[in-house]
Amino acid sequence: MSKSPTLNVSLYQVWDSFWDQKLTSFGQSEKVPDDVLLALHSIHGSVLERAVELFDKDCLTVFRTKGHSREVLQIIGSSGMIYTLFHKINFCQCQSYKFQVLLYKANVTCKHVLAAALSYATGKFKVMELSSEDLTKLLIDSFVGRNEMQTSGHP
Ligand SMILES: [Zn+2]
Repeated sequence: MSKSPTLNVSLYQVWDSFWDQKLTSFGQSEKVPDDVLLALHSIHGSVLERAVELFDKDCLTVFRTKGHSREVLQIIGSSGMIYTLFHKINFCQCQSYKFQVLLYKANVTCKHVLAAALSYATGKFKVMELSSEDLTKLLIDSFVGRNEMQTSGHP
């Protein structure tokens, strides 16, 4: 794959705006239009196919503080593992992201980030309102006490 700086800037510009597209398909909410899927497939290939499988399973929960000043996303992976993500941020804690994105630069992102972006853009997610303290605790549990988090919460 080419590593042209122009291509990278362009991809990230597309990525940044994608989250707020408010995608719908012919007035249907929670469905990604075919032309969007086709365009995404040309960039992400099989990663998109795995992301759509997660998207179909209602995988995303958005945790917000009152007034929506802070927001954290959690997605349930295919193995049941929970990944904590951030709006518009291309980063995930999974092994695929670590190796395929960061180390080998074979993919632009992982299926979790892509599924979260698709779910967010189509409004297909659950919302949980938390206090600012509880959101901070969720972040600490996710990134500091990650092993404890995986044995509780989502089934
Ligand atoms: Zn991931």
